[in-house]
Amino acid sequence: MSRPLRVAVVGAGPAGIYASDLLMKSGEDVQIDLFERMPAPFGLIRYGVAPDHPRIKGIVKSLHNVLDKDHLRFLGNIEIGRDITVEELHSFYDAIVFSTGATGDQDLRVPGSDLKGSFGAGEFVGFYDGNPDFERSWDLSAEKVAVIGVGNVALDVARILAKTGDELRVTEIPDNVYESLARNRATEIHVFGRRGPAQAKFTPLELKELDHSPTIEVVVNPEDIDYDEGSERARRESKSQDLVCQTLEQYAIRDPKGAPHKLFIHFFESPVEIIGDNGEVVGLRTERTTLDGQGGVTGTGEFTTWDVQAVYRAVGYRSEAVNEVPFDPERAVIPNDGGHVIDPATGAPITGLYATGWIKRGPIGLIGNTKSDAKETTEMLLSDYAAGSLPEPAHPEREAILEFLDSRDIAFTTWEGWHLLDAAERQLGEAEGRERKKIVEWNEMVRHARPEYEI
Ligand SMILES: Cc1cc2nc3c(=O)[nH]c(=O)nc-3n(C[C@H](O)[C@H](O)[C@H](O)COP(=O)(O)OP(=O)(O)OC[C@H]3O[C@@H](n4cnc5c(N)ncnc54)[C@H](O)[C@@H]3O)c2cc1C
Repeated sequence: MSRPLRVAVVGAGPAGIYASDLLMKSGEDVQIDLFERMPAPFGLIRYGVAPDHPRIKGIVKSLHNVLDKDHLRFLGNIEIGRDITVEELHSFYDAIVFSTGATGDQDLRVPGSDLKGSFGAGEFVGFYDGNPDFERSWDLSAEKVAVIGVGNVALDVARILAKTGDELRVTEIPDNVYESLARNRATEIHVFGRRGPAQAKFTPLELKELDHSPTIEVVVNPEDIDYDEGSERARRESKSQDLVCQTLEQYAIRDPKGAPHKLFIHFFESPVEIIGDNGEVVGLRTERTTLDGQGGVTGTGEFTTWDVQAVYRAVGYRSEAVNEVPFDPERAVIPNDGGHVIDPATGAPITGLYATGWIKRGPIGLIGNTKSDAKETTEMLLSDYAAGSLPEPAHPEREAILEFLDSRDIAFTTWEGWHLLDAAERQLGEAEGRERKKIVEWNEMVRHARPEYEI
């Protein structure tokens, strides 16, 4: 083929950016358009990673180097499946890679989940990270709060609830978020896990730094430190799991430090009901569990009611389907074989369609894990290209898609536009001695990124 390989990558989170990087480094003559539904790139690095984790947010600096390349164009503020159909996209590209990630909350199937005061962790994350799709203010009147789940998202939510508004004001949080956090009355945050310390999904660093805030005291009940043969095996097989256990053991035996906000981590407590009164959360009922020898647990029939006025359900994220693209509703992923999208009706790969990142394998793992995903997916794409099996697009010229977007009057944002929005956010932050202050409103973001466009 004498023209460049044309690839559309859908979703400008880490998975899509790493996939683009690998394609550009492959040695093939390739042109990539990176589509993104938000006006700004970076996916959950911008709208998931907690604001008090500037080191992780700083990963965007290395991603800038990828987006700076001429072979890659960022096209934001375009939702594939809504603003452009997948069929339309096919007419401009040899291959399409879906890296659409995850934004929704997994359901917690216990009675009372829909009460006022019962929140999905993802909704709260969306709020405090200034995602325009979510609420602009948050009811933080509860003094005692439960967080269900023992993964890093549960820790993020618990930590943000336990910190003071002023501690978070130095971060990039916008004013509306600060205003709600400044009214936060929570003094007791109870994190609940169904299983034991050796089954917790925390990463060691996140768990350790929980206690760094002078306002937070992490408390673990020594009775919750329990291991069976399955747990001991898990510790032997994973250094990281062993470190998590060691940190929890230290929390369980140390002297109190006297910080005003207590963050309890409870193990072997399985939520069975969120209790309501007049439609509002007034408690959480859990059943005590015990290890079964294999690292699993069984119920003991012993129940506790915890006096809490809000419950945050941090039991995992969930991906959304993209119109016209196969979706497995059980696993909430695009069905694929090593990244090649599979037609569920025939079980055969669909030529020219690929998936990578959380939409490929489910919402588990860190930003770094999306690199290995991207490697597998892009190798598959490149081998199909080498074999000549990709479908020929009707309009492979690079400018054709831009003309199409203009013909639809889509106010797409670009990489240059991101630099303008980035500069505006930095300027807002600078005025208050911080690195950045996020702009939340969708139209405001577009206005900064694309000043010539009338909204
Ligand atoms: C609350 C939270 C905190 C986290 N903290 C950390 C941390 O501290 N450290 C760490 O290493 N990892 C962390 N992670 C994990 C990390 O965010 C993920 O591993 C990573 O973001 C997954 O990358 P992705 O590109 O697959 O998905 P995403 O980051 O979700 O990116 C997907 C992108 O696709 C876009 N998109 C979706 N649908 C469409 C469409 N139809 N058209 C166009 N664009 C679309 C979305 O807007 C989004 O920008 C955290 C995750 C969460 C949820």
